[in-house]
Amino acid sequence: MALTGLQIQKLLPKTNCKECGCNTCLAFAMKLAAKKAALSECPYASDEAKAILGAAAEPPIRTVTVGEGEHVLKAGGETVLFRHEKTFVNQTGLGLAVDDTLEDAEIERRIVALREYRLERAGQTLRPDLVSVAFRSGTPARFFAVLERVAALWPRPLAVRTDDAKILCAAAEKLRGRRPLLASATAATVDELSKVAQATGAVLALAAGDFNELVVMVNRVTGGATGGGTAQEQWHTNGEAAFRDIFLELRADSLCEHYQNNAIIRRGALKAGLKVLGYPILRYVDTGDPLDDAIEAGIAIAKYTSLVVLPALEPADLVSLLTLRQNIFTDPQKPIQVEPKVYPIGEPDEKSPVFVTTNFSLTYFIVSGEIENAGISAWLVVPECEGLSVLTAWAAGKFGGAKIGAFVKETGIEQRITCRKIVIPGYVSQISGELEEALPGWEVIVGPQEAGDIESFVKNVFR
Ligand code: SF4
Repeated sequence: MALTGLQIQKLLPKTNCKECGCNTCLAFAMKLAAKKAALSECPYASDEAKAILGAAAEPPIRTVTVGEGEHVLKAGGETVLFRHEKTFVNQTGLGLAVDDTLEDAEIERRIVALREYRLERAGQTLRPDLVSVAFRSGTPARFFAVLERVAALWPRPLAVRTDDAKILCAAAEKLRGRRPLLASATAATVDELSKVAQATGAVLALAAGDFNELVVMVNRVTGGATGGGTAQEQWHTNGEAAFRDIFLELRADSLCEHYQNNAIIRRGALKAGLKVLGYPILRYVDTGDPLDDAIEAGIAIAKYTSLVVLPALEPADLVSLLTLRQNIFTDPQKPIQVEPKVYPIGEPDEKSPVFVTTNFSLTYFIVSGEIENAGISAWLVVPECEGLSVLTAWAAGKFGGAKIGAFVKETGIEQRITCRKIVIPGYVSQISGELEEALPGWEVIVGPQEAGDIESFVKNVFR
């Protein structure tokens, strides 16, 4: 929760020494509250002030990192319930579950396929994040052989799946330096596992069957309530954290229950300020039906799950889940953009026509792909439109004839080509007159409204 200036002032030395550049400690406190200054500017701030103000500056849902090095999975860190309020921060991690009853060759096939998988979309490279290895064979030697093989094949974040504390402890030791997710501690094992996770640098998931159990476990691990009192009382406990690199795994029988639980956790953390619920959410999906798994994973992505792990991640599932995730986790205030410039599509020459679209990344990639599919080479002029789509950019006055004409001249393309045909999107046919005035000697052609119709348009107009 954000502190007010007066609350912050009580934590400062109140000597008004002016070394921070403010005349009084109160003035400095006001700047801190407005996030226009940093506590480090006061050389006399106490450790208590640093601890309290540091905690107040933390997001209501803790950011927890799984993995080490280049490819880590960051989870949590969220500050809003709905994307349009501001933005979501850390996208839902997507993981594949394998277990030690599978044949070695099959495990290797799945891991390698996942490792090599990537989806290029709207200028971004989308990939799955994690592999989870489950202990199911009942033979520890077999499990650790599989874990070792997977760890060698998969350089990105790892999870270990079992409720057997001995196996989790040994796995944490073997994966020291990889910062794995141990999934999961139960009420019976949470004390032992939290110590081991802390000592080995692992992250720990806490699995519970209901909210009361979950809250008690979180408080035990983080140094909050140690028991006693009602769950309601414990929810309001805000003790010093002992170990806070945790995920919440509230196990439930139905999709409906999962959905409801996630909403309660997110609302509790953000709206009610319940620090005990301010952690990323883990979900293992396994309905027995691959289509249902994909649907449940989609809902988990849309509603607050920080990491969702599935028993299979086939390319068709991955395309839909990664695309959904990208759509939800892009910042709505910062549309993904491409650089404003002239893009060659295919191998255009001086006789190739010119197409125009906006620099909204998705629009650019769709239009350029459709021109390529149409089998011609062309120049694609992309003026600065602040990443807006065609109609939105036009409505905002950023995609008019005069602006496009000025941009075409600025790029110097007129000196490089003899073709004087420029195709504008059908949705903005009304700018054709203005564009003709801005580009004397050019023929302005109104193209199709939908990018999907570019291929037939090209056949009719340019062949
Ligand atoms: S430096 Fe610290 S003690 Fe001095 S006026 Fe600023 S806030 Fe107060």
